[in-house]
Amino acid sequence: MSENVLKKLAGNVKDYMKFETEKPITWCTGCGNFGIQNALKRALALEGIVQKDVLFCFDVGCSGNGADKIEGYTLHGLHGRVISLAAGAALANSDIKVISFGGDGATFSEGPGHLIHAVRSNYPVIFVHHNNENFGLTTGQPSASTRKGVRMNAAPDGVFLEPINTMDFVLSLKPSFVARGFSGDIDYLTEIFRKALRHDGFAYLEVLQTCPTYNRDTPEHWYAERIKHIEDAKNYDSSDIWQARKLMQDIENEIYTGVIFEDKSKVNFLRAIPNRKNAKTVLKDEVKKYSISEFL
Ligand code: SF4
Repeated sequence: MSENVLKKLAGNVKDYMKFETEKPITWCTGCGNFGIQNALKRALALEGIVQKDVLFCFDVGCSGNGADKIEGYTLHGLHGRVISLAAGAALANSDIKVISFGGDGATFSEGPGHLIHAVRSNYPVIFVHHNNENFGLTTGQPSASTRKGVRMNAAPDGVFLEPINTMDFVLSLKPSFVARGFSGDIDYLTEIFRKALRHDGFAYLEVLQTCPTYNRDTPEHWYAERIKHIEDAKNYDSSDIWQARKLMQDIENEIYTGVIFEDKSKVNFLRAIPNRKNAKTVLKDEVKKYSISEFL
């Protein structure tokens, strides 16, 4: 770990190291997934969140292969279905933080329905969208977010369809928290993760992730030249959804990162259910317990 990182983590290094694992790395050299997990581990340590208080839910894909690269309670779900799995866990046990991860292929090609209802329901879940703009695990097919004209192994002449503007799509659903980061901007991404961890409701965090192996048209420097921080946008008000949607239209020239939109007045799903308004217990404690020893 570099001296700078150590300084920033200061008294939290031990907590950070507990999330580290000895398991073999299967990501390609230069993959943006390294930066994303590094920022997440730093944010958890800085927020004082320890292993027993967090559940990591992974979708299928290169992002999903992060399941064995972080030490803690982890689940690996079906392709495009991780958000519903995470929502179930979060509703059953609201004493823990539930963080879920999925790629653009899983989220916007395979299972967008789950995303729509999670945003609408405002489940107490953080969803990290690893947007590397292709299906990386299956060797480079275009996804719903691949930019027009980009050449992929499965589209050697360039993609001819327009991509979905994923940020604008989520903003159109009246979310409570939408943020965007870049896998090569780890310090800033750490701070975005910290804000998402403090949000009470569904936090959509999209990370523009480099995939040097299959998405060669948008390498690290392509993003680095375009990435801006939201604090530098003039007169920007992150509670104004129309301002947010307008800013997100540009996906080619000035790509803003940071907390793009937040509605602090929205109540999370568990607290919005009328008959649970005065509940003092967590759902997992209300389930009758049965002994299964005779079946074991
Ligand atoms: Fe990362 Fe792309 Fe390699 Fe997958 S294929 S591990 S996203 S660089």
